[in-house]
Amino acid sequence: MNLEHIKQTDPVVAEQIELELKRQQDTIELIASENCTSLAVMEASGSVLTNKYAEGKPHKRYYNGCEHIDVIEEICQKRACELFGMDHANVQPHSGAQANMAVFMATMKPGDRVLSMDLSNGGHLSHGSPVNFSGLYFDVKSYGINEYGEIDYDDVRRMALEHKPKLIICGASNYSKIIDFKRFREIADEVGALLLADIAHIAGLVAAGLHPSPAPYAHFVTTTTHKSLRGPRGGIIMCKEEFAQAIDKAVFPGMQGGPLEHIIAAKAVALLEASKPEFKEYAAQIIKNAKALAQGLMDEGLDIVGGMTENHLMTLDLRKTGKTGKDMANVLEVVGITANKNTVPNDPQSPFVTSGIRLGTPAVTTRGFKEEDMTEVAKIIAGAIYASDNEQGLKNLRERSLKLCQKHPLYV
Ligand SMILES: *Cc1c(COP(=O)(O)O)cnc(C)c1O
Repeated sequence: MNLEHIKQTDPVVAEQIELELKRQQDTIELIASENCTSLAVMEASGSVLTNKYAEGKPHKRYYNGCEHIDVIEEICQKRACELFGMDHANVQPHSGAQANMAVFMATMKPGDRVLSMDLSNGGHLSHGSPVNFSGLYFDVKSYGINEYGEIDYDDVRRMALEHKPKLIICGASNYSKIIDFKRFREIADEVGALLLADIAHIAGLVAAGLHPSPAPYAHFVTTTTHKSLRGPRGGIIMCKEEFAQAIDKAVFPGMQGGPLEHIIAAKAVALLEASKPEFKEYAAQIIKNAKALAQGLMDEGLDIVGGMTENHLMTLDLRKTGKTGKDMANVLEVVGITANKNTVPNDPQSPFVTSGIRLGTPAVTTRGFKEEDMTEVAKIIAGAIYASDNEQGLKNLRERSLKLCQKHPLYV
């Protein structure tokens, strides 16, 4: 990575970037929402496009000099529509949360009712959490998951009939099963609601055809571009043609100012990459690796919420070990594995402590980890949990994780 100019002007920041690169190279990244982009994506996001103001839409800008920006943004829109099979794409949202905010703004007035998945059951803050704009300004009813880690669709239907929401949201930040978008649409139709499918986590799997697509069913599809899709940090909204204008107006001037055209160029590059046969292989390997990790953990006597995963992530349920998610996430960091604490269904611990750890495989799969590596990762995780007080034991496990990192180098 070339940092020649930052080193000259700002050695303090340059040093931290170098240390962060080393941290990424030497740790096993199991945070399910993270990934490692290609150098092509990074070049686009670090380009001169960062200099350009381009409020508005391609060919309808408030600033001059947008002829090249227009080409790039239109290519990005076209690639998003083709990859996900939707009519219209707005590629300007700065993040997944902004994308969702724009859908709220385009479809509802403050006080209107939304039905979405509860945060502690795997939903997202921007789906109606009381501390988020979505929960502050809208009337939110939420559904959860059952003891098998699955959405109870009959219960979702019952709630929809009872509460008559304007918008139903499906899609989650921590859900390890296939989502039945068709069933959600049937429920939405029955109560006259619009359906938003937020595929932030599974976008890469959907793009590769390895998770059913929401396109035939959802009125709106939102996604992040930096999770399994492996692009720059950002969001995209896609919708049916009839909602195109409302969505575009909600993004700008509704809630954002000038678009980040360097990031839009990087999104375009990532979308092209995601349309290639190699990406399909990558996405298939993400799922194989997740299954190998889940199997490895169960073989070590640990529990997974809902048992075997069907996608790229899982939640390790620590309840029977007597340890907490907070403590074990810290212990994993000691052995060179990064992951986040997470609640499990009916968690006896608070959301700050939790009894679970969420684990995902998109980032390690990008590095080239295969099933046998995931089995070793499972053994390191189990070893760390069972021997969390044994300093020498943790040291040995750290050496094993470093060995895996060196076997699959990153950005060299
Ligand atoms: C990550 C995530 C988001 C938000 O993405 P940000 O880019 O962090 O704002 C929205 N929805 C779901 C389901 C997510 O998992």
